[in-house]
Amino acid sequence: MKNLEKLRELILKEVDMTQVLLDYNVDFVFNPTLVDESQLRCPFHGDDKKPSARFYKNTQSMFCWVCYKTWDVIQFIMEMEQLYYVRAIMFLIDKYKLDTSSISDEPVLEPVTSINGKTISDKSVETKLLRKKIRDFRGKLEFDRYKALSCAFYMVMFKMFKGGDVTEDLKKLGDKINTIQIG
Ligand SMILES: [Zn+2]
Repeated sequence: MKNLEKLRELILKEVDMTQVLLDYNVDFVFNPTLVDESQLRCPFHGDDKKPSARFYKNTQSMFCWVCYKTWDVIQFIMEMEQLYYVRAIMFLIDKYKLDTSSISDEPVLEPVTSINGKTISDKSVETKLLRKKIRDFRGKLEFDRYKALSCAFYMVMFKMFKGGDVTEDLKKLGDKINTIQIG
């Protein structure tokens, strides 16, 4: 697997969002190859009679006043093709035939299975339970809080895969989860 951040940088550098929008036949008010900015019909929020979105060539981004959202080329593909981030990256590389040979492969992390003779695994009851609890919060907590929580969980997992002792972290995370009230 290649470094995702580097693939992302490559895409943002090499793929012209103007072309991508044209390839998806979005309805521009002005020919975007001739102007720096152009209003367009937002392809995401249904019948957009009065073109609510604007494409900015300078920043290679699109903003819609109705969705109140900004897209870069990767986010645009994620939404258009209903793809997860990694898949959208692969999709763009494939579709626009980007040369990724300059980006080296990252070594795959091998999970550590024991610390001081004590067997650990992310399948352990504790992590399984925490993972489940966090998943259960999905849609019930504000997205930012949910994101922070699941981020913390994956940081703990990452530490564990690198061979760190995560007993304390798991306990802290567990305590934190127990204090969360929904609603
Ligand atoms: Zn919109």
